[in-house]
Amino acid sequence: MLRSLLIYLSSATWARTLVTRWKLTWQVASRFVAGESPEAAIEVIKTLNEKGISATLDHLGENITSEEEAQRATDEILYILDEIDCTGVLAGVSLKLSQIGLLLGEKICAGNLLRIMSRAKKNNIFVRIDMEDSPVTDVTLRLMRTMRQDGFAMHVGVAIQSYLYRSTEDVRQLMKEGTRVRICKGAYMEPPEVAFPKKADVDANFDHITKIMLDKVTADGCIGDSDCGRFPPIPAIASHDEARIRYAVEYAQEIGLPKTALEFQMLYGIRRDLQDKLAAEGYHVRVYVPYGIEWYPYFVRRLAERPANLWFFLSNLLRG
Ligand SMILES: Cc1cc2nc3c(=O)[nH]c(=O)nc-3n(C[C@H](O)[C@H](O)[C@H](O)COP(=O)(O)OP(=O)(O)OC[C@H]3O[C@@H](n4cnc5c(N)ncnc54)[C@H](O)[C@@H]3O)c2cc1C
Repeated sequence: MLRSLLIYLSSATWARTLVTRWKLTWQVASRFVAGESPEAAIEVIKTLNEKGISATLDHLGENITSEEEAQRATDEILYILDEIDCTGVLAGVSLKLSQIGLLLGEKICAGNLLRIMSRAKKNNIFVRIDMEDSPVTDVTLRLMRTMRQDGFAMHVGVAIQSYLYRSTEDVRQLMKEGTRVRICKGAYMEPPEVAFPKKADVDANFDHITKIMLDKVTADGCIGDSDCGRFPPIPAIASHDEARIRYAVEYAQEIGLPKTALEFQMLYGIRRDLQDKLAAEGYHVRVYVPYGIEWYPYFVRRLAERPANLWFFLSNLLRG
């Protein structure tokens, strides 16, 4: 109920206008957002890299409704691809297709994505396409596959959500194609026709998909990350849920998969202790580092994931 309300508020313009007006909101949001500028985010990534943790940099923005905005977002992503290259930080990029014009049409979005992928390939940087809500799952997978066919197979991957019934089959197919997949639980509001309503089923499906991915890389002889660590291994386990992480660690051990054949991913500001612990144990850990002024929907989705965050936010507002 509370989660549904917050997910609704994450896309409500009136709520964004109201909430972002309060200065204190940013103080709380900055726990999850690395800053408003790319420079601030790069500094955060340098600190992570010093601890042996890599990053995926996300210029916040989504559901863009004008071509100019989509162009601006694309230009910003080109800029950060160059910044990653020239600063030499260990990082890839994550993006949402709705940020680069998906809602304006597939063709516009494909054109922008092609520009991004060309720069990513030139700079040898990996780009992960985030998965948004279920009406765009098909088109997201289609555009990702087009990029793979157009010569960017090494440089592009996608996120898949374990709450969707279809994801098991999607992952089986993506594994056959050799695509790098990030498995996450899913952060949007989905109807029971397409997604498991119960958390226990989402969790079980997460482990099932993890198993499919780990079995596949084992069968293929553990093909995985590049030696420089710039490219993630095929399976990326994106969760802060210790039970999901434990399952992946234990199953990988059981089938004799080396630690470097998989990667754990977490969000900036969440479970830093766990990020450090896994990195110290010799696992690849990648932190999703979002930055930019369009932080409102991302922030409210983080509140929706954990009611304690909401109480923290509200108590700060009351105190302030
Ligand atoms: C690297 C990465 C990329 C992602 N990409 C996508 C994507 O492309 N598409 C998509 O739909 N979703 C994406 N997500 C979000 C994901 O779907 C979940 O909504 C989110 O990760 C919370 O799920 P969880 O697996 O951590 O498990 P949960 O069961 O939600 O949480 C497990 C535990 O983690 C901690 N935790 C989780 N969330 C928070 C929080 N917000 N604040 C504080 N503690 C928290 C708590 O201790 C909680 O008990 C991504 C997540 C990560 C980590």
